[in-house]
Amino acid sequence: MRDPVTAYVGLGANLGDPVQAVLDAITRIAELPHTSVIRESSLYRTAPIESTGPHYINAVVEISTSLPAPELLEGLQEIEAEAGRQRPYRNSPRTLDLDLLLYGNDRIDTADLQVPHPRMNERAFVLVPLAEIAPHLVSADQLAVVAGQELTPI
Ligand code: AMP
Repeated sequence: MRDPVTAYVGLGANLGDPVQAVLDAITRIAELPHTSVIRESSLYRTAPIESTGPHYINAVVEISTSLPAPELLEGLQEIEAEAGRQRPYRNSPRTLDLDLLLYGNDRIDTADLQVPHPRMNERAFVLVPLAEIAPHLVSADQLAVVAGQELTPI
């Protein structure tokens, strides 16, 4: 087990009760072994990007974890799978999406895991909640790029 690392996880849900799905996921992340939740952003309601359907609820959490990044990803995928069992209809989209955004200062580029998350800079629903809890990690220029995307704190 390595020394604790500060990492950031992005959460999104747009089916069923998305507020509850995000809150439940934060609880489950805090229950991962060798992991604690340090900060939680507000919840944000955001318009779907590149898709239609209900609005999303998004948030970002800061965690401290001694899990190596691949094991952390595995834990996050188990939480997604658990939430996905509550499917409103067959083959419905997942109720919960968890993305490992940052893992300390590590740069990871394997088949299963890319960190920093390759699309995080394109998404207001990642950058705005991340800036709320870790302003030192997001520049004004980064925020300006996504300023046109609809996003409302709830
Ligand atoms: P998605 O459908 O966007 O949730 O993508 C899930 C897939 O992305 C999984 O197969 C992961 O192995 C892969 N992946 C690569 N990098 C990451 C990351 N930083 N966080 C979460 N999933 C990732």
